[in-house]
Amino acid sequence: MKYLDLFPKTIKQAPAGAESTNHRLLVRGGFIDQLMAGSWTLLPLGYKVVSKIVQIIREEMDATGAQEMLMPLLHPKEVWERSGRWNKTDVKEIMYQFEDIRGREVGLAITHEEIVMDLLGKHVSSYKDLPVKVYHFSTKFRNELRARSGILRGREFMMKDLYSAHVSEEELFKYYEEVKQAYLKIFQRIGLEVRVVEASGGIFTDKYTHEFQALVESGEDIIYYCQSCDFARNKEIFNGKEGDKCPQCRGVIKAANSIEVGNIFPLGTKYSKDMKVFYKDEKGQDKPIWFASYGIGPTRVMGALVEVFHDEKGIIWPESVAPYQVHLVGLDLSETQIRIKAEDIYNRLQTAGVEVLYDDRADVTAGEKFADADLLGVPYRVVVSKKTEDKLEVKKRNRAEVEFLSYDELLGKLKTT
Ligand SMILES: [Zn+2]
Repeated sequence: MKYLDLFPKTIKQAPAGAESTNHRLLVRGGFIDQLMAGSWTLLPLGYKVVSKIVQIIREEMDATGAQEMLMPLLHPKEVWERSGRWNKTDVKEIMYQFEDIRGREVGLAITHEEIVMDLLGKHVSSYKDLPVKVYHFSTKFRNELRARSGILRGREFMMKDLYSAHVSEEELFKYYEEVKQAYLKIFQRIGLEVRVVEASGGIFTDKYTHEFQALVESGEDIIYYCQSCDFARNKEIFNGKEGDKCPQCRGVIKAANSIEVGNIFPLGTKYSKDMKVFYKDEKGQDKPIWFASYGIGPTRVMGALVEVFHDEKGIIWPESVAPYQVHLVGLDLSETQIRIKAEDIYNRLQTAGVEVLYDDRADVTAGEKFADADLLGVPYRVVVSKKTEDKLEVKKRNRAEVEFLSYDELLGKLKTT
C-alpha cells in the first residue's frame, strides 16, 4: 500500500475528550473513527488488525472441532421470553428493545444463547446429534450508559461467540477445558499476556465462570492473583487483599488492574430446561442439554493491545497482528535514482509476500515520516535514502538501534520472524 493512496491519513492532534491511550493513538493513526459515543468505524488499517486477530481466533476455534456460521442480530421477543431473560431488569438495562413496523417487539443481539438453543430445538433430537459446537463473528449491541475508554467499551462491537451443547456435565467440562486452552493459545499468538480469572456469572449463570484478563495499568477491572501459581479471582468474588497468602499454594497475592479480553461460561442445563429443549438418551427418555458459551471481542483485543504496547510516540504492534510487516520510508524521493530504488524495494518485498506500507510522499520531511512510522507502529521501519547507498536502513519499532542490511539480509530477517 502506498501511503498517498491510504485512507485516511494520520492526524496530528488527539481528538478532544480522548482520555484513554487506545482512543488517542488509534484515532490519530487512522485505525478507527468515532461516529458517536461507543460507536466506531474500523478504518482500513484498523480493519486489517482486527482481521488478523479474527483469523487467529478462527484457526484455534476450528482446531477444537467447532464450526463457523452466522446468526441474525434482530431477535424476536418470543425466543428471549422462553428463557425468561426478556423482562429481566439487568437484561432490559443493556438490550435495545423496540417495536417493529408491524408492532412486534424485537431486540438487538446482546448475546446468542437463546438463538442457539432455539436452533438446537429444531435440529437435535437424540444423543446421536450431540455434541454441537458452533460459533460466529458478529456485532453485539449494548445500551451502555457510559460508553467510553475508546474502543474498549462500545454500544456496538464485534464478538466471536462460541456455543457448545453436550449430553453430560462431564462432556461439557471436557470441552470447556479444551476451549480454555485454545483461548490461552490465541492470546499467546496475539502476544497478549493474560490471567485466567474465576468470576461470577452475571446475567449468564449463577455458577462461577472464567475471564481472560490482560494485565494493564490503565485497565478498569481489578484482579487478585498469586505470583507463584495460577490462582486468580476478580474483585467481585475475592474476599481478601494484596499481600494475603494464596489459598492454593501459600504464595503472595498481588492486586492488579486489568482489561477483560475474553470470557467463558459453563451454563449447565439452565437454558435447556427453561426453553424446554431436550434430547432423547439411549432409552428414549428426555434429557436436558448441557450448554456453555465462550466469547472474545476482537475489537476490544485491539484496544487492549494498544494499552499494553505503546510508547510516547505511538503504537508498537505485535508482529502477528500488525497491519503491515514493513513500513518502507522513502527519503530524497525528488532524486530519480532514489525513487526508482525505493519503488523497486517496494515491488520486490510485495512479490516476496511481505506486507508493506510505502511512504511515497515527496513533499514531507524525514522527521514527519519517522513520526508517522512511530505512530502507526509497524514492526520494521526500512529507509531508502541518499545516505543508505546500496543498503537499507532497518530499525525495529521496539528497538533503538539501526542496522544497514542488503535486500536479501532484510528478507531473511523477515522470513525468520
Ligand atoms: Zn498460589
